[in-house]
Amino acid sequence: ERSGFCAANSTFYSKRELVALPSDPNLSVTAFLASRRHSGTTAFIDAASGRRISFPELWRSVASLATALASPPLSVRKPSVVLLLSPNSHHFPVVSLAVMSLGAVLTTTNPLNTPHEIGRQVANSCPVLAFTTRGLIPKLSHSPDLRIVLLDDSRRPSDDLRIVASIDELIATEPDPDRTAVTVRQDDTATMLYSSGTTGTSKGVVATHRNLISMVQIVLNRFKLQDGAGPETFICTVPMFHVFGLVAFASGLLGSGSTVVVLSKFELGEMVRAINEFGATYLPLVPPILVAMTNQPRPLPLGRLQKVLSGGAPLSREVIEGFREKYPGVEILQGYGLTETTGIGASTDSAEESRRYGTAGMLSPNTEARIVDPDSGAALPVNRTGELWLRGPYVMKEYFNNTEATRTTLVDNGWLRTGDLCYIDEDGYLFVVDRLKELIKYKGYQVAPAELEALLLTHPDILDAAVIPYPDEEAGQIPMAYLVRKDGGNLTEKTIMAFIARQVAPYKRIRKVAFISAIPKNPSGKILRKDLVKLAASKL
Ligand code: AMP
Repeated sequence: ERSGFCAANSTFYSKRELVALPSDPNLSVTAFLASRRHSGTTAFIDAASGRRISFPELWRSVASLATALASPPLSVRKPSVVLLLSPNSHHFPVVSLAVMSLGAVLTTTNPLNTPHEIGRQVANSCPVLAFTTRGLIPKLSHSPDLRIVLLDDSRRPSDDLRIVASIDELIATEPDPDRTAVTVRQDDTATMLYSSGTTGTSKGVVATHRNLISMVQIVLNRFKLQDGAGPETFICTVPMFHVFGLVAFASGLLGSGSTVVVLSKFELGEMVRAINEFGATYLPLVPPILVAMTNQPRPLPLGRLQKVLSGGAPLSREVIEGFREKYPGVEILQGYGLTETTGIGASTDSAEESRRYGTAGMLSPNTEARIVDPDSGAALPVNRTGELWLRGPYVMKEYFNNTEATRTTLVDNGWLRTGDLCYIDEDGYLFVVDRLKELIKYKGYQVAPAELEALLLTHPDILDAAVIPYPDEEAGQIPMAYLVRKDGGNLTEKTIMAFIARQVAPYKRIRKVAFISAIPKNPSGKILRKDLVKLAASKL
């Protein structure tokens, strides 16, 4: 068994112990999770109401919902797509697991997205059914034919004709194993989350049951939540529509017997109240929450909290040190990953490992990595910086209906080009240095520059545009636009920000604008974003 760097093929092998994966080719992630034994009792607690959902109640709801979905009139079948548009709630895992148990495909979207943005995802993924809350129905205004199941309310006589059921009606169905008996292969598609990847706009990331099962095994193993370990209590503030929340809270932790306290959205005071009231021990979060906790004038009371698990964006040394000083009793662990890796590609396991400032941790078990020189394409050795390529059982199958993006992202027999500039040191620790890809991360949310540039170019007074990330302490990065004005136009920063704000979700807004005489481009017309990033930094 290899571990560490192998010079013969310039490949880094994970130094973590190999994790055994189920070999049965016919296994859904739902069946895999349901079969795991643990000593947990409460699966979910709704933080606002204090309502508890036990493991038996949860699995019964999954079986009932799957039966109702498989039966007329809904008749959801493999490989139909089902959209889940919802804030965090205990319904999220019930819907996800029921859909996946039938071999149907789950797609999720950010409830902050505009009707137009959601309409685009619906047009691309073609769901046969959507689960959503009453308040979010207007977000489906571009999808007149999409049938809807209400998550938070019962039906009313005056309702929109698209509403075909409420989840309570469906969960009242008697489970019928004959109706839900479908062969789901590990190779079948389980989820399609959307990510812009290394370039362009949002694409469906096709993840198989094997991808999810292997990631769940890895997460439970890494965080020592295997069978027999005492159940922990997690606070769920990260969004379940994102891979981080989906893998951890809407599936993975169910296999460990841990309790998940669900907050429908992040609010610092509410989070602290829930940590104390429910005796939480683990808090997964994105860096902006850690920054907010660190910037408090006085330490927040954190009760029994033992660990914060930070992921989704980089953590600076200052933030780590500031947090440690303020909360000496709480360990910080880090995870690095992508939607395309179904979760964690590298993580730190202990406070000791996190103390190597700047590291995102060691490669996940069962993972190979290459560091590739972006110019020459050569695979580089230890301590040299290049693009990180990852290979492992959790790497996505493809981008949905997009052979071109798949061809450029999945290369050389299963290697995923992450678009992140990294190095791996002699001890096997991964350091993320920068992002080669266009992606901007605002508070952990993805913002695709190509999408904003396309909108900017529809403005009559704009000749050319480029959008880049601009550093921001609170958000990590904010989207900044460089614009070339048309002759005679009197475009201002304010008008352009308002123009974009009207058309996009709040987290995608352009928050900084600069005017320039020409956008730097290479001979084939590609925007030289790094030149603009340098220009913006020089003005800092
Ligand atoms: P997403 O697909 O939304 O999860 O975004 C994935 C991207 O987020 C990665 O390719 C990185 O650029 C960034 N990212 C995630 N975790 C980390 C981390 N721990 N450190 C630095 N960047 C990260």
